[in-house]
Amino acid sequence: MKLKRVLPFAKQLLMSTVEPGDTVVDATAGNGHDTLFLTELVGENGHVYAFDVQAEAIQATSDRLEEANKLELATLIQDGHENLHLYIQQEVSAAIFNLGYLPGSDHEIITTGNSTLQAIESLLQLLKVGGMIVLVVYHGHPGGKEEKEALLSYVQQLPQSFAHVLSYQFLNQQNNPPFIIAIEKMKKSI
Ligand code: SAM
Repeated sequence: MKLKRVLPFAKQLLMSTVEPGDTVVDATAGNGHDTLFLTELVGENGHVYAFDVQAEAIQATSDRLEEANKLELATLIQDGHENLHLYIQQEVSAAIFNLGYLPGSDHEIITTGNSTLQAIESLLQLLKVGGMIVLVVYHGHPGGKEEKEALLSYVQQLPQSFAHVLSYQFLNQQNNPPFIIAIEKMKKSI
């Protein structure tokens, strides 16, 4: 298959954006796969802030980083990403969201349109020009459709001079396949 699947494409976007020494955000740490990937991109002079509302997710992420000897490159925060402005004041180059629920965990603990949009608004202020927010949108679960619609109507109204917004999706896959929204910041403020 020549067309990149959704998760490899999300990683490719991050790789093309993040440089060694950068500060970046994993807005939905879950089992820590993206947090670990981001620590590899920022290197020993960079830093990753990772958020999750579940203690179980923060523990899983901590274990994964410790095993890879990368724990000191990340700050793991058990709080909603809607509060990220309370923890991060410096410029960031990228952020990743994997929306929905943590596989193998409580399917009722999901990201929601409200909190996701609040986090995006904060990140759009913190992001450097040329920085990127990547969202992997899972929307097949209860509540997923509402979050997807809130997100699409928000990103579609962002002025083109301020941010470029991409949707990357397979149009003929079955069962509500996930898709990507990527937001690249093009100038300092709207
Ligand atoms: N990227 C993760 C990984 O590599 O395993 C998967 C993330 S999972 C699809 C979504 C995560 O978002 C869940 O772990 C859930 O607890 C978390 N979550 C739900 N609401 C949140 C919020 N308001 N802020 C931060 N995380 C939240």
